[in-house]
Amino acid sequence: STIVVAMDGTSGSGKSSTSRRVASRLGLRYLDTGAQFRAVTAAMIDAGVDFAAADVAEQVAALAARPVVESGTDPDAPTITVDGHDVAERIRTQEVTDHVSAVASVPQVRQRLLDLQREIIGAGGIVVEGRDIGSVVAPDAQVKLYLTADPAARAARRTAENGAGDLDATQADLLRRDAIDSGRATAPAVAADGAVHLDTTPYTLEQVVDLVAGLVEQ
Ligand code: C5P
Repeated sequence: STIVVAMDGTSGSGKSSTSRRVASRLGLRYLDTGAQFRAVTAAMIDAGVDFAAADVAEQVAALAARPVVESGTDPDAPTITVDGHDVAERIRTQEVTDHVSAVASVPQVRQRLLDLQREIIGAGGIVVEGRDIGSVVAPDAQVKLYLTADPAARAARRTAENGAGDLDATQADLLRRDAIDSGRATAPAVAADGAVHLDTTPYTLEQVVDLVAGLVEQ
């Protein structure tokens, strides 16, 4: 298959789980672009970027060419490394989550990852998950989706995934990142033209997977 499925939406909408399961079921590859931004963020923390400083964007821009990110695209066992180190667990830490939207709003970071994302997408056969996939990364994608859910449902899912956490704080954190992601100047998080909007709040994961797989198979 050469199909490209662009899966955009907010965190906690069920985007990641749905993308992986649909890719696995249909024999497609899977790319988590959020994991790539998180991996660059981990590298920025390790490089000593001062996130409290007024010039954080300049610090990040100056280092943007350095980290080498590699993504494994098997939906049943996705991998992510920076400079050869497995960062799959590290990228889910609160420290990385706290800073990822600031890093992702730096144009030099986005351009670097855009080149990598397009290289991985190549001839297609892939479900690509992110915030700007249908609008910027793969505007020619044959299937475009935009997943959302109520903030309370999103926070509940995220807390369940992490095995613990405070619901209100998680919800506040999701909304804080939404505001930065949709408000940035370069490739803001948006629903692409022609994207199928799906509010997943009332549905189980199985229901959403069936629905999306059905759309892709059409
Ligand atoms: O999807 P996830 O919540 O892991 O993404 C983490 C962050 O990475 C987002 O909040 C956003 O700042 C950034 N991101 C982005 N563009 C993408 C994917 C993720 O800016 N295509």
